[in-house]
Amino acid sequence: MSTKQQAQKLVHKAVKENVLSIPNNCELCNRQDGFPLIAHHYCYDYPLKVLWICKSCHKLIHLNNLDTWSNSFSIRDALLKKNKNFKKNYKKYNE
Ligand SMILES: [Zn+2]
Ligand SMILES: [Zn+2]
Repeated sequence: MSTKQQAQKLVHKAVKENVLSIPNNCELCNRQDGFPLIAHHYCYDYPLKVLWICKSCHKLIHLNNLDTWSNSFSIRDALLKKNKNFKKNYKKYNE
């Protein structure tokens, strides 16, 4: 099993055991109709450190290569700093 699969398995297990809870909204754009939310990993070394995001935001992160594996890099901070562009792109991907 790959590290990625292992991390995903751990997330599912943690949700099932109420260790992790899935929020009611996407943690990046806050939309509430983006279900099912995707658990995006900052780094697979931290399998339970996930950002619950909608499909559109996930696409955006990967298109912009913001899913760096660096431990010090926070996708959320990066996107908030890029808020203007993010909103613009976000709209683009939701049209
Ligand atoms: Zn979103
Ligand atoms: Zn991802």
